[in-house]
Amino acid sequence: MRTRFRGITQREGVLIQGPAGWGEFSPFAEYGPAECARWLAAAREAAFDGWPEPRRDRIPVNVTIPAVGPEKAHAMTAASGCRTAKVKVAERGQDEADDLARVEAVRDALGPAGRVRIDVNGGWDVDTAARMIRSLDRFDLEYAEQPCATLEELARVRLRVDVPVAADESIRRAEDPLKVRAAEAADIAVVKVQPLGGVRAALEVAEACGLPVVVSSAVETSVGLAAGLALAAALPELPFACGLATLSLLEDDVAADPLRPVDGAIPVRRPDVDEDALLRVEAGEETAGRWRRGLARAAEVLEAAAIGAVGR
Ligand SMILES: [Mg+2]
Repeated sequence: MRTRFRGITQREGVLIQGPAGWGEFSPFAEYGPAECARWLAAAREAAFDGWPEPRRDRIPVNVTIPAVGPEKAHAMTAASGCRTAKVKVAERGQDEADDLARVEAVRDALGPAGRVRIDVNGGWDVDTAARMIRSLDRFDLEYAEQPCATLEELARVRLRVDVPVAADESIRRAEDPLKVRAAEAADIAVVKVQPLGGVRAALEVAEACGLPVVVSSAVETSVGLAAGLALAAALPELPFACGLATLSLLEDDVAADPLRPVDGAIPVRRPDVDEDALLRVEAGEETAGRWRRGLARAAEVLEAAAIGAVGR
């Protein structure tokens, strides 16, 4: 990682190769076998089945602006070439004036035609969320992502503000979008391919939840990002820019021609894995052994689930 993100400084994962191409299996360290099994299902789909036909050939993406000062936020937004920016707010140790200054700087850099969304990562209570969203909406917000931690809180915020609310952390498994919808907790669902078990599974989830979807990455290499692009390309409608411009968070990549945005969008394609790059990022024996064991446990869960499905 270029900077610490989600508490990690080193992103790890397994790449598997099959007849359809390469797949990425990169669950975070805290996940158990059942959760990891879905991430493995996504990698296997990529490697063995491939993905549904794309409906579009480029995916607009947002630049993500971390909790930096306004000058840096302005410069990062302007340099990105993106027409949509996601601004992190509610950072621990900062105050409301910091959030206002950052969002103002980003709006200024994008101009009135750009779109500005905020990501709160569940950092506000309901009253703070209602007050801050109204206050920040002077800079015309596209939506507010995960303003509070729980579904019940999101639903209450939704009733108090005019800005649409998006659920991100509230959606980590296939049944979650349905809970979000049932609780009337969000207007938009942020979905990721690996946690939901693949592109097809994510398409089913998106259809079942009946909300517009923003596809985001799980901080993956170009192999994992290609699956996110495939999902974004296959969705019947794509009203919002996606959170797939995350390769810049990583020091290196496994593709010779990585999936980076050009003029605010990533072309829908599947880059080849580069053998030299694989050698460059190869893990040591101890890490590799740990991942082989994790992969085997996830595979056991998947196999048991497949037998259960046949039995029914
Ligand atoms: Mg988020």
